[in-house]
Amino acid sequence: MRVLGIEGTAWAASAAVYDSTAETVSIFTDEYQPESGGIHPREAAEHMREAIPEVVGRARDSTDEIDVVAFSRGPGLGPCLRIVGTAGRALAGTLDVPLVGVNHMLAHLEIGRHRSGFDAPVCLNASGANAHILGYHNGRYRVLGETMDTGVGNAIDKFTRHVGWSHPGGPKVEAAAADGEYADLPYVVKGMDFSFSGIMSAAKEAYDDGVAIEDVCFSLQETIFAMLAEVSERALSLTGADELVLGGGVGQNGRLRDMLETMCAARGASFYAPEPRFLRDNAGMIAVLGAKMAAAGDDIPIEESRVRPNFRPDEVPVTWRTGSDR
Ligand code: ATP
Repeated sequence: MRVLGIEGTAWAASAAVYDSTAETVSIFTDEYQPESGGIHPREAAEHMREAIPEVVGRARDSTDEIDVVAFSRGPGLGPCLRIVGTAGRALAGTLDVPLVGVNHMLAHLEIGRHRSGFDAPVCLNASGANAHILGYHNGRYRVLGETMDTGVGNAIDKFTRHVGWSHPGGPKVEAAAADGEYADLPYVVKGMDFSFSGIMSAAKEAYDDGVAIEDVCFSLQETIFAMLAEVSERALSLTGADELVLGGGVGQNGRLRDMLETMCAARGASFYAPEPRFLRDNAGMIAVLGAKMAAAGDDIPIEESRVRPNFRPDEVPVTWRTGSDR
């Protein structure tokens, strides 16, 4: 099966072709780079309007056959999603192939499960606008824990905007942290949930009070990632799972991956993080989950394909796991 996937929930206008027989994924992405500040929904949508036809054109040119069209249905920025939805519907209609609407957060999870071959992992989604721990139970991916305020990448980006660094801030924090030492920041985990807003205010204050930027960045990483590792470990312990996969753009951070790897090794669990092109927003993960959904007959009529800006992962009945896998 060859699936053309389209992604455009926020900053990445992306199209991909997944060939499930050859097990190849070709991804074509055009990134929105804000001139100043963070992601601006109207500017991001303008970027989508220009870039989606171009990346979809490149994806179509890379293959002579398309059996299914899959698009990111949500969660994400409404104005961006509507452009992606329109492109998906138009393409599926023109090619006369099934249309699949994919939950973007489940795509961040399933690409790790697919590439690792793990059966029923706990998944840490550490992305820009989100942060959750998910575990599979009884036909759905359940949200076991999540941020009580901002997404993890957005929290880091807010701090870097404060110090005058351009978007995205995550890679710059990682680089600066290499030369830093620990300075105290609040650590906020409540049961299985966690919060970043107090840490961000404290980090901004520390910077304004003259703490070296390298030390603030080091401490931000140590604090935030230790919180995510703690909750991931508790999820493994409570569910009895012995596999963890990482998803989302913040998963590109080497320190986060090291911490999770160390935690999993200490408890005899397996850890998998996909390669960076599958961690940040990309249409490859949409095409791969789209193929699984299409194989399960989980396509949608065009008239029922409206986008879902607040689409939660636990709203999705998991149709694509079969047999003992289910
Ligand atoms: P979502 O997938 O929840 O819709 P999103 O669209 O913002 O979120 P992602 O591509 O998953 O996007 O993640 C982007 C985020 O990843 C940005 O906030 C960016 O700062 C962060 N990021 C990228 N590289 C790194 C890194 N090396 N360390 C930490 N954060 C990083």
